[in-house]
Amino acid sequence: MKSDLVIVYHRQPYEEVITETGVEYRENSSPNGIVPTMKGFLGKAKRGAWVAWKEAEDTSNPGFEPVIEISDSYGTYDVSRLPLTAEQIRSFYHVTSKEAFWPILHGFKERYNYDPVDWPAFRTVNWAFAEAAAEQATDDAVIWIHDYNLWLVPGYLRQLKPHATICFFHHTPFPGPDMFNVLPWRAEIIDSLLACDSVGFHIPRYAQNFAAVVRSLTGAQLIEDCATPSTLAATGGALNDRRMPLTLMHFGNQVSIHTRPVGVNFEYLEKLATAPEVLERCTAIRADLGDCKLILSVSRTDYTKGNIEQLEAFARLLERRRDLHGKVRLMLVSVGANRAMTAYAEIQEKIESLSGRINGTYGSLEWQPVALISQAIPLAQLVAYYRAADIASITPLADGLNLVASEFCAAQDLTRPGVLILSEFAGCAVLLDGAIPVNPFSHASMDAALDQALAMELVEASSRMAALRRCASTWDIAAWTQAELAHFASLREDRTLPADRPAA
Ligand code: UDP
Repeated sequence: MKSDLVIVYHRQPYEEVITETGVEYRENSSPNGIVPTMKGFLGKAKRGAWVAWKEAEDTSNPGFEPVIEISDSYGTYDVSRLPLTAEQIRSFYHVTSKEAFWPILHGFKERYNYDPVDWPAFRTVNWAFAEAAAEQATDDAVIWIHDYNLWLVPGYLRQLKPHATICFFHHTPFPGPDMFNVLPWRAEIIDSLLACDSVGFHIPRYAQNFAAVVRSLTGAQLIEDCATPSTLAATGGALNDRRMPLTLMHFGNQVSIHTRPVGVNFEYLEKLATAPEVLERCTAIRADLGDCKLILSVSRTDYTKGNIEQLEAFARLLERRRDLHGKVRLMLVSVGANRAMTAYAEIQEKIESLSGRINGTYGSLEWQPVALISQAIPLAQLVAYYRAADIASITPLADGLNLVASEFCAAQDLTRPGVLILSEFAGCAVLLDGAIPVNPFSHASMDAALDQALAMELVEASSRMAALRRCASTWDIAAWTQAELAHFASLREDRTLPADRPAA
């Protein structure tokens, strides 16, 4: 049965567990996070499908059914598992996407690694994704492709499904032409994206950057833009943009540029934060801390997340504020990434050695200033830490959005609120009003933010947190889902009559 909504994302929409009785497809344990958010759309379609990769030794004889039907609390939908060899996964994902695209998307030209890229292999994998998606889709389906590792899929899909509504969403930042055009495949990528009906971004700045890249490479015209709503320009910070591009005209076709930040499941997190077992854990954490203040930082281990700069700022704090010895702790949750990727192994080692150095220099038997956690903490536990913390210090150097900052706000108790220190370079900085903004490239700014947060009186912390919670709940996943569905419906309605639309 063909689907009228096909989601194309590299990860499968469940956890695959091998048990004694066979393979089990377990629903993700929490309804918060990107995969559950996207799965929410499957139940809204007449029939939904999801396309992801699954490793196989021999792709022509993978040893598993490529398409299976799943029934879970999100509904009944098909999952197409595209068989890829370990080498294809390494090449298209770990090398091309993570070593070449990722640093450019986040503005780290010096980390861009061109040499090992096998571009024909990237094309082959993207073509295979496009074919797998086309097989699942009705002729006029909405096909929704996610993230930069699938940049060439829209162009291929347009050849296979000329009348489909093709949408693409970027979960990362999108840089301006000086940065993006470092990629030698820039024209091919942009041509593919311009085959979409809609190209989506979290915030206006990324959308503006995309429009500027398109202008630098093609003759496409921006025919419509609008003023940025005040709710997407909360802080006046570095990522603010006063206008948002809306429509490009390219060879007679309209391409919508869609700006809409993904949110967190605010209601669920708020409830979770007051569940008896979470409150109990939170009380235990506070009791352990005694009169020590807890600064919490949570992220993946990635050079974009600014964990080294965070540790350096904490070391400077301990150096200049002897009064805080024994009175403050940093819990740095830096979830170890794939150690096989050199860039991540290197950063992990730096984090470990710097944490050790801080504990060695300032700590004692009774007081370890840094608690470094490299394992992922389950959400229910994490929420207890969010609620117990005095300060969340979220200071990425570049971050598409950052969900942790909003999750922290959702978990707060206004009678004993935490303070949010938030990098100006996290996408969510434009929607979260009430944080202490910080420039992670400036020592002075990082130092002042920590001092301000540590000294903040309850009244101010409470009113800031009330504002932050209003913003995070305005931009939650329910709002995102509603906006995306309305966008799909209007794109389908507005589409040029099929007969008028030339196949690419
Ligand atoms: N997370 C988690 N356990 C951890 C660390 C992180 O469950 O120990 C989750 C966190 O709750 C959030 C996600 O991982 O939902 C990280 O999302 P974010 O947008 O902040 O960063 P990303 O990793 O997508 O760049």
